[in-house]
Amino acid sequence: MSSKLGTFQRILLRCEAGERAAWEVFLTRYTPIVYALIEFYLPMHAGEGRGAFWAQGLRALGANGHERLKGFDHQAEREFLADLRAFLFARAGQATDISPRWTSSGPQPTFDSLAAQLDALPLAQKEVVFFKLAGYSDATLEEMLLLPSSAIRRSVQRLDGDYGEMMRRQKDGCPWPAAWLEVLTRARAAGQDDCPSRRVFVRLLDGQTTWYEKVPAEEHMAHCLHCLESWVALREVTYLRRVTRSLPPSEVKGLLASVPLVASRSSLIARLFKT
Ligand SMILES: [Zn+2]
Repeated sequence: MSSKLGTFQRILLRCEAGERAAWEVFLTRYTPIVYALIEFYLPMHAGEGRGAFWAQGLRALGANGHERLKGFDHQAEREFLADLRAFLFARAGQATDISPRWTSSGPQPTFDSLAAQLDALPLAQKEVVFFKLAGYSDATLEEMLLLPSSAIRRSVQRLDGDYGEMMRRQKDGCPWPAAWLEVLTRARAAGQDDCPSRRVFVRLLDGQTTWYEKVPAEEHMAHCLHCLESWVALREVTYLRRVTRSLPPSEVKGLLASVPLVASRSSLIARLFKT
């Protein structure tokens, strides 16, 4: 992934150096993904509030010499975006007012009920069930996972008894934001010493693993909600990177105010000549 400013890694390093041009690329590319995640998972910050929520997030990423941003995975864009997604969810989870307004009535998934529902399902079906409970419509999942609708329906049949109508919604969006944020938080905290590195899952996604790597990684993921959540995050950000459009320049300009920029040499010289 490159632009006239260089590769993804180079752009990130230049953002951390406070370069305006690099931040323009960053905001143009990644703000639409951030907004898509907010609209889907975080209705408490959606609509008109999403710009303010993201601006606060940007200030947090840039604080103390970009300390948080530097802590994200820099190896490749997908891992970086998965870290950005986790960062947004953690910030939303810290908000004190996410319940009970964002808690729907009726049965809702919990970490334990999800584990029970996924138990004994083949890995491909676990992935579909995870995405369905998150709130994706069958039509979007067909596009994201490149699966026929019959396979999606078959995977989630067992959820119809518990969640009925919710499973047949045509609309994308998490129906139980507070409960699902809690499920994701528990899943992310449930990592174990034998969890494969996320790089292995990226290679699995790209079909680049050897048999020796693929089989143990898939067997592990089938019994580890932490790794299944990592996998789902990678698939989701890959999809969003593909389908989201660039942010218009006027909106990029507005968000630049929340980023700590360092004056470029040319603007410094221009200022010196003015005085
Ligand atoms: Zn694991």
